[in-house]
Amino acid sequence: MKTLITGGSGLVGKHLKDILPDAVYISSKDYDLTWIDEVRDMMNKHEPDFVIHLAARVGGILDNINNPVDYLEENVLMNTNIIKVCHEFEVEKVIAVLSTCIYPDVVETYPMKEEDLFNGPPTPTNFSYGFAKRCMAAHINSYIEQYDKKWSYLIPCNLYGEYDKYEEHNSHFVSALIRKIYEADDEIELWGTGKPLRQFMYGGDLARVIKYMIDNEIVDNFNVAPKEVYNINEIAEIGKKACKKDQIVVNYDNTKPDGQFRKDVDSSKLLSILENFEFTTLEKGIKKTYDTFSKKYHR
Ligand code: NAP
Repeated sequence: MKTLITGGSGLVGKHLKDILPDAVYISSKDYDLTWIDEVRDMMNKHEPDFVIHLAARVGGILDNINNPVDYLEENVLMNTNIIKVCHEFEVEKVIAVLSTCIYPDVVETYPMKEEDLFNGPPTPTNFSYGFAKRCMAAHINSYIEQYDKKWSYLIPCNLYGEYDKYEEHNSHFVSALIRKIYEADDEIELWGTGKPLRQFMYGGDLARVIKYMIDNEIVDNFNVAPKEVYNINEIAEIGKKACKKDQIVVNYDNTKPDGQFRKDVDSSKLLSILENFEFTTLEKGIKKTYDTFSKKYHR
């Protein structure tokens, strides 16, 4: 099977390349997937049997709040083009990647299961990203209904890892935390109250799940997240310990947004088919990421 990975230059794409080196990895420099003709050129050139669609406009809370139009348009265009052109080119298998950020803002029972995806609107701080990703889920489901496709999607929680971005404007929480801890001697400041609950997964773990699905030809939709749910303050404390900087004091800027209060998901459906799969603990993953970051980054 010839496998093509969009978003090959991103956090997840690079982790996947470490364990699946023979696939074709595409970045925006190769093709701009918001243009359908470029997607057709890509398919004509590579003729894949299997497409893993990772490419997306992804960013932190501030970038989502400031650029909702870009998040909606870029993601809808990319996802729609990929799914439509995979049908045109008769791509046998497709796995697309959504996010737990697109689940309803509030539900009655946590952790959320796959069937809760459309049970309420996404949180206001990433409403556009949420709807663009939900649209892809609906698009895939429609192709399955109308054309009996063997296509599916994964819904991972927030990620971190050594391949993440660390620039202030577009980094995710754990990567931003790692950089702050690295740069600080005495104290750091985090946004919000420190109370929201989060699941965080090491990017390499998601890559291992994707590889397992490819190797074992599994076609189904799954949440992907470790079962541990921490509040932001607990994550900051785990981060300090993992980076051996216990002395740092964490302050909170309550004038900045918290984002969604909780979005924890249940991965028991996935774990029932993955044999002996163990997620990397947050402390171990942060330590690994911090060690790589501190070797590369010089203040
Ligand atoms: P990332 O590091 O931001 O990488 C994004 C990838 O998409 C890059 O390879 C980028 O190419 C590509 N891309 C963006 N715009 C493109 C365009 N117009 N045409 C072609 N390629 C384009 O993302 P990630 O963190 O690896 O995320 C991978 C997937 O997981 C995404 O679908 C994301 O929504 C999902 N996810 C991520 C997280 C998280 O916390 N990171 C959590 C849950 C789900 P360039 O490098 O050339 O720009």
